[in-house]
Amino acid sequence: MKTLEEELAQRHAQHLYRERLVLESPQGAEVRVGGETLLSFCSNDYLGLANHPEVVAAFRAGAERYGVGAGASHLVTGHSRAHHALEEELADFVGAERALLFSTGYMANLGVVSALTDRHDHIFEDRLNHASLIDAARLTRAKVNRYPHAGAEQLADMLARDPRPGLITTDAVFSMDGDIAPLAELTHLASKHGMRLLADDAHGIGVLGKNGRGSFEHLEVPLVPPAILMGTLGKALGVFGAFVAGEAVLIETLIQRARTYIYTTALPPAVAEATRASLRLVRAEGWRREHLRTLVAKFRAGAQQLGFALTSSSTPIQPLILGETRVAVETSRHLRERGILVPAIRPPTVPDGAARLRISFSAAHTATQVDQLLETLATVISG
Ligand code: PMP
Repeated sequence: MKTLEEELAQRHAQHLYRERLVLESPQGAEVRVGGETLLSFCSNDYLGLANHPEVVAAFRAGAERYGVGAGASHLVTGHSRAHHALEEELADFVGAERALLFSTGYMANLGVVSALTDRHDHIFEDRLNHASLIDAARLTRAKVNRYPHAGAEQLADMLARDPRPGLITTDAVFSMDGDIAPLAELTHLASKHGMRLLADDAHGIGVLGKNGRGSFEHLEVPLVPPAILMGTLGKALGVFGAFVAGEAVLIETLIQRARTYIYTTALPPAVAEATRASLRLVRAEGWRREHLRTLVAKFRAGAQQLGFALTSSSTPIQPLILGETRVAVETSRHLRERGILVPAIRPPTVPDGAARLRISFSAAHTATQVDQLLETLATVISG
């Protein structure tokens, strides 16, 4: 067995060693890192709400009213009026009977999958699902089957050959590719085979659909059983945490059975208050989504003109797939030297040979900043 030192050295040699940037400012179009101001295309703060004054004020007022820590799990005494109100507002927002807060999206996925499956069940998951869905399936004793990326037809064949009770899980917007899952087809398949569908809309909530209700609204697929929605609050909503939305009996089941709900401290109530403020902004300020769409379209048109190979993504996640890990890491470094922050995403986050720049846009960016990105990419990638 390799020593830890040997393993780390090998990671270095393979350009897979990960290091953290130390941010000295709030999230925003520009961030401070190491005393430098950099133009950032890295965050999931898609609507520019993470540092919005109304959200910050609500957080502060929440702390004044409730203190800092929730002090207990939801089922003991940690469930405050702030949490309860946020759950009701989220359910109303996405058009579900009820919603349940979790401390993170990762925990929400683990909680739902483990509460709804046992060793007699099968889980069918998209090959490119987020790590939290993959880990969730691993944690249960269910049998795990992977289907090709966005492959509703292949999944239909798998289920027709060998129908099994259980769960289909998918990212609604794929986190490293930005494309959208075929939710209508997956809901239909789940329904046909008496299964449930867990759709992880971490990157769609707030961003997609006319009202920001996410991928279901965007695709005009009704959010009704057997579909279950998981949404996160740390991306477009700019705060922290996650929720699961669905019918009342599902939510009651999760309260009884989801271990990552039961055995953990509730989110600070001030976080819930801040999220309520950001949800009001998400609902009221459709211009943020409009502006974001304009920026994405501008980037895609410009990148196409420059001859870059874009993916089919229409969301604010715009990967430039460069292939070799070394190339992605060096390109990211060259951008940084020119004042632009774009992360290189490497295996195992993406498949081998598919290392990429993951460019993400925010309503906080300006059109001029998108031009700046395009100009710099042109220098760095052709030079
Ligand atoms: N699902 C997807 C698709 C994600 O991209 C992420 C976060 N990167 C998560 C779940 C986890 O959410 P959280 O950060 O709230 O744990």
